[in-house]
Amino acid sequence: MAPRPLVAGNWKMNGLRADAAEVRALATLLTDDLACDVLICPPATLLTTILDAAKGSAIAVGGQDCHAKVSGAHTGDISAAMIKDLGCSHVIVGHSERRTDHGESDALVRTKAEAAVAAGLVAIVCVGETEAERDGGKTLDVVGRQVLGSVPDAATPATVIVAYEPVWAIGTGRTPTEAEVAEVHGFIRAELSQRFAAAGAEFRLLYGGSVKPSNAKSLMAVANVDGALVGGASLKAVDFSGIINAYN
Ligand code: PEP
Repeated sequence: MAPRPLVAGNWKMNGLRADAAEVRALATLLTDDLACDVLICPPATLLTTILDAAKGSAIAVGGQDCHAKVSGAHTGDISAAMIKDLGCSHVIVGHSERRTDHGESDALVRTKAEAAVAAGLVAIVCVGETEAERDGGKTLDVVGRQVLGSVPDAATPATVIVAYEPVWAIGTGRTPTEAEVAEVHGFIRAELSQRFAAAGAEFRLLYGGSVKPSNAKSLMAVANVDGALVGGASLKAVDFSGIINAYN
């Protein structure tokens, strides 16, 4: 059976408390018989506010990053246990902006994913090639290395989600063709099946990179795409619900 889809929003470094109104508006737009799960990952400063706004709705809330350690002398960081303690269910790790801006390696991303799972969160592990890597014909090499290096050995479909986000498609309005998405998602599925045997078929594989209401239905229909990780278009309820509607 195909995994139940997930449509996840990554607000990145956007949002003030007043933007909780978008989450309350989204909750009113979601039908009771949703065919997918819905998640919003606001900045750490808004986790409590968004958890409150989402209360009683189908919207789950997650973090955008966590430290690999449970606690300690790491000024400015937050741990998976802290995110879990608030009532969150998920955390994104290894987003390309973290890999680029903070030099995060596959090994660090794997440790963060392990910390997330140990804290009781589902880790959304992001992978994806740069434009130069795609142009150089290295997409599958890069994605394969990232999946192998970033996904913990103890990962299960219940604890880890993999998000394929080509770096060149993030925030650019450009997307890969459906055939290109199918190729990479099929490749990730095969890698996970090789490593985790029958469970490989059950991992959720999200596509991320310039997903919007107008392209969501066709991207979400691609084989081995089990949902979306959405940046810009997750900020407004009307756009995000348009993407969620790809499944309804
Ligand atoms: C993202 O940052 O995870 C993302 C996919 O961004 P956008 O949808 O804006 O391209």
